[in-house]
Amino acid sequence: MNCETMLEISRRPSGVEGAKILKNDFFCKKNHFSKFLRPLEDFPYFIQALWRKDISKPSFKRTFKKKSAKSRNFARQMLIIKTKCLKNMSQKIVAGNWKMNKTAPEALLLAKEMAQQTLPSDVTVILATPALYLQNIRQVLGDKKGLYAAAQNCHHESRGAFTGEISAEMIQSVDVQYVIIGHSERREYFKENNAMIAKKVDLLLAKEMKPIFCCGEALPIREKGKHVKYVSNQIKEGLFHLGHADIKKVIIAYEPIWAIGTGLTATPEQAQDMHLELRKVIRKKYGNEIADNIRILYGGSCNASNAKTLFAQPDIDGGLIGGASLKAADFCTIINSF
Ligand code: PEP
Repeated sequence: MNCETMLEISRRPSGVEGAKILKNDFFCKKNHFSKFLRPLEDFPYFIQALWRKDISKPSFKRTFKKKSAKSRNFARQMLIIKTKCLKNMSQKIVAGNWKMNKTAPEALLLAKEMAQQTLPSDVTVILATPALYLQNIRQVLGDKKGLYAAAQNCHHESRGAFTGEISAEMIQSVDVQYVIIGHSERREYFKENNAMIAKKVDLLLAKEMKPIFCCGEALPIREKGKHVKYVSNQIKEGLFHLGHADIKKVIIAYEPIWAIGTGLTATPEQAQDMHLELRKVIRKKYGNEIADNIRILYGGSCNASNAKTLFAQPDIDGGLIGGASLKAADFCTIINSF
């Protein structure tokens, strides 16, 4: 289903949101919709509430329960369509995490190959390369629109006696804006915790840089059914000290650890469920506008064959790609999977 052909979402200059059905066969024909834009206020309350995702209110829960299964299903479909429409209108992101791979000549060759591609205008492509090559890679990418370099980490202190480390300011000084933080490999092998990652977020935002904040659960946590709570807590401890203006600048990457580099991808349903849950947590703290617009990427054995089904999920805004970002052809297939 191409939702763009089904429904046109509009925001009038007055700020009134409305919907116009462009193709009618999917919807109940008798009520609620017409070929013309109707303000949201004309819709039954329970549809308005779903539209605004105001669904935690007890009054909504009561109304929703009383509706027929057909109406409830209709309302749910409408919400999915709305989310997909908003997603179609928004910028998607595909970030490649090269990790500790490639010599300098190999890295520059891959960056050149990527710089020569015609990239879709609605996808931001990010190459998180080894820090050693960032300055040269930044030059290779030049001012190509939609293609950016990223660091894979920065230290949680701003400067000083931390041998071997790289600061946010150093990354910024070579004109690189994006930085991955809190990757599960850093959390596991370098014992990074949520408090350290929260400090990194602050350092990056203070420099007007863009954190790609990773979160995700290990297999035993998922097996115990505690994954939503665990990952929500990573987000709360890592990000919830931010105000409304700053949280908007963060990109979240949900990466179940059991899927990273294992070839075991989360099913599209598992990934979608988790993204929806994370949006709920963000919604509760920051409201609808921020929850609907914050970018949440999926990572974990995402590749050229499974990207399309993962990216088709309404709450998945793109991917953080490890192994499959090391070959230009595979990475480009992923970039073109929306
Ligand atoms: C990653 O390390 O961020 C990642 C998603 O790796 P892979 O795609 O190889 O699972």
